[in-house]
Amino acid sequence: MGMDRILKGIMQYRQTVRSNLVQEFQRVRDHPEPKAVFFTCMDSRMLPTRFTQTHVGDMFIVRNAGNLIPHSKFFATENTSTEPAALELGCIINEIKHVIVCGHSDCKAMNLLYDLGTDKEMSTIENQVKSPLRGWLCNHGSDSYDKFKQLETRGFKMPLLFTAETPMKQFVAYIDPKNKFSVQDKLSQVNCLQQLQNIASYGFLREGLASGKIFIHALWFDIYTGDIYYFSRQKKEFVDINETTFPKLLEEVSEFYYH
Ligand SMILES: [Zn+2]
Repeated sequence: MGMDRILKGIMQYRQTVRSNLVQEFQRVRDHPEPKAVFFTCMDSRMLPTRFTQTHVGDMFIVRNAGNLIPHSKFFATENTSTEPAALELGCIINEIKHVIVCGHSDCKAMNLLYDLGTDKEMSTIENQVKSPLRGWLCNHGSDSYDKFKQLETRGFKMPLLFTAETPMKQFVAYIDPKNKFSVQDKLSQVNCLQQLQNIASYGFLREGLASGKIFIHALWFDIYTGDIYYFSRQKKEFVDINETTFPKLLEEVSEFYYH
């Protein structure tokens, strides 16, 4: 059982949304205007087009365990081509301006990364074959974990420093200053910001990032409340996107276009 749910869903789709979607596909073919490359976790509770209310043609979505973008340093030693290939397809070939990394609370991948730490054993080829998930997390989550450890050592009070579009563009981040979230969720937020640095590590994006053609952003979804946070470089923290904060956040993202 289970596959019947999928087939029944397809039958329902045929009778309901299909015809509208086909019209949308035609509109997008004639006027493509993709807005963002969106990296998020493969978690079944994450429904990015629903919680951003985006439609056909709006976003290129890449999903994996833990919304990780491998740093370019891995390029030489292992075959980590999917995420950078997606960045090239989105930002270079389709000239998409915004890259968004969206993490979330109660992330099973981040919970596992928290338990594994930076177990170097797990990143050996032999262990990667036995558990690709553990290998993936230990290799590509280790920078996030190290940053998280820095935070933990300082009692979660001190800010972390990340680089963004260029090595010159650094930003400061206070992680969960109101101490609302679990340690695993704090790791998930650190991880989300670490991916901005990893994205910027790719040489083929350098010119776009340096000249203000490409921008990188972080979102974080709180699964149990449905709240969505935007990392505000001005506020130096994840800010809940709501009726009160929205005008300021809109101002902040609009400034990206002019600077
Ligand atoms: Zn997840």
